Amino acid sequence: MADLDLVLEELVTANRILAHEGVVDGFGHVTVRHPQRPDRFLMSRARAPDCVELADLMEFTLEGDPVDAKGRKPYLERFIHGAVYEARPEIMSVVHNHSPSTIPFGITSKRLRPLMHMCATIGHEVPVWDIHDKFGDTSLLVTDMDMGRDLAKTLGARPTALMRGHGCVVAAETLRKAVWVSIYLELNANLQMKAMAMGDVTFLSPGEVDAVISRTNAFGIDRGWEYWCRRAARPAGALEID
Ligand code: MN
Repeated sequence: MADLDLVLEELVTANRILAHEGVVDGFGHVTVRHPQRPDRFLMSRARAPDCVELADLMEFTLEGDPVDAKGRKPYLERFIHGAVYEARPEIMSVVHNHSPSTIPFGITSKRLRPLMHMCATIGHEVPVWDIHDKFGDTSLLVTDMDMGRDLAKTLGARPTALMRGHGCVVAAETLRKAVWVSIYLELNANLQMKAMAMGDVTFLSPGEVDAVISRTNAFGIDRGWEYWCRRAARPAGALEID
């Protein structure tokens, strides 16, 4: 079982990486399930991810209640994370972001699908959750558990889902994999828009997606992690801690 201090350090690093790779800007967040308390998760206070420090990290129940806020203000959309952890016991990390290239696939009939081997871990096809279907006119923000659970239902057993006119959610079995999938989700969306502008697109076949997913392991993910840590000026830490 991973040591809490190591997990907290990695969570700071994940925040910085996602900012440096253009997945988050001043907004968006990454969380990790508490390594000793599966009914809790860890998340920064409401702050731009590139600015996140250890002292910003807070503990939450899966319902999104802070365990000891110490005056810190939490992110409004923490319910996205709690609802996914509640629905998916195997999930150890969740990312919510507004990465720009994903947005068009939530507001058109074009579905986001993997078209490059590195991107297969985004899943066979990325579903779209439309908050308007159940909640009508809103600010589009996921501000309570009802909304979070509805989004988690669309996500189902998948690694990714888009949120119409808003962004996306990524769920993974490790923090490093959640970062990986988030980065390659943005890349795939960017490439798919370019490819569609050129003509008909040959996507990965379902069997190819499965083949890539089955060979994506901690060794490969750590290689990406080490690279992203260097770019974000963070120590890579012990590899394969998860
Ligand atoms: Mn958001």
